[in-house]
Amino acid sequence: MNQRAHSSSSSETATPFDDLGVAVSRHEPLAHHTWLGLGGTAAYFCEPIDSDALGRVVKRCHEQQIPLRMIGGGSNVLVPVAGFEGMVVRLSAPGFCGIDVQRPAIIAGAGAKLVHVVSAAVQAGLSGLETLVDVPGTVGGALVGNAGGHGGDIGERVADVTVMLADGTTEIRDRSRLAFESRWSNLDDCVIIGCRLELDEEDASLLTKRMQKQWIVGRSTQPSGTRTVAMMFKDPLGTTAESLVAQAGARELRAGDAAVYAAHANYVVAGPHCSSDDVRTLVETVRSRVREKLGIELTPQIEVW
Ligand SMILES: Cc1cc2nc3c(=O)[nH]c(=O)nc-3n(C[C@H](O)[C@H](O)[C@H](O)COP(=O)(O)OP(=O)(O)OC[C@H]3O[C@@H](n4cnc5c(N)ncnc54)[C@H](O)[C@@H]3O)c2cc1C
Repeated sequence: MNQRAHSSSSSETATPFDDLGVAVSRHEPLAHHTWLGLGGTAAYFCEPIDSDALGRVVKRCHEQQIPLRMIGGGSNVLVPVAGFEGMVVRLSAPGFCGIDVQRPAIIAGAGAKLVHVVSAAVQAGLSGLETLVDVPGTVGGALVGNAGGHGGDIGERVADVTVMLADGTTEIRDRSRLAFESRWSNLDDCVIIGCRLELDEEDASLLTKRMQKQWIVGRSTQPSGTRTVAMMFKDPLGTTAESLVAQAGARELRAGDAAVYAAHANYVVAGPHCSSDDVRTLVETVRSRVREKLGIELTPQIEVW
């Protein structure tokens, strides 16, 4: 079944959020909000205008035990065809997307696009984020997964993170309370609102050249700009998922209209009739093949909801 973005259905059914003064939609097609344009619907969806509104929604979810998920650029999540029976929140309002240069730091909202933060830093002559220029998604998503590449990751530059807890209150977590590892952080128990990134002063024109070079190298080694591909696995220590998939002879595998991307074996490419369940099946099939042939357990990068 092709489940790319389609028009949302309206429903007049009451929701548990009706008294909060927040526009909540029902049966929101999450395909509108994921990188691959795939996935079923969310029972509830909202884009709060500020922290107060966000707090009311978060608190209500906690009180009524309604599962809550945040979505940023949707470049690392896979929503099943069956959808998500809970509330999905996207921090798209301007108040969550700010980028403020406070030399030598940058304060960035969780909803800001990572590439915009990198560009702002480079223009201001602040280095430390250039290697992230080709990572799709938002600051929030990047912090949760400690986004990065061979040149470094975002966690190295984080001074503090402002988060919201389940009761709707906010707190600032400084470096001593944060842990970042390869494609992982301990920020998986909260809603991220923003962060402060400590950077280094450097000549803006040199930095711009370095970022451009990084962008060109990134584009030549991975398909970051392509909306039909997504990353399958985390790189294990000392090797790459790409080489393991190739060694296991899994390059030719397919599931429905999902296939291993010919130009880079750690990516899945979604054909025009692909469903998110095809993608999930392919990731599981490739993982099994690598386990059988090489005895290595790959960890999926893409998060299945
Ligand atoms: C083509 C392509 C290339 C990629 N290249 C790289 C790469 O080079 N390096 C790399 O590290 N990754 C890469 N990725 C993976 C992905 O882009 C990163 O993981 C990215 O940081 C995800 O950001 P996002 O905003 O899209 O997060 P989403 O996919 O929307 O969400 C990811 C996770 O973060 C959570 N989340 C999002 N926002 C918040 C918030 N405000 N508060 C709390 N939780 C939140 C979500 O609930 C989810 O658990 C690539 C992906 C694609 C499709």
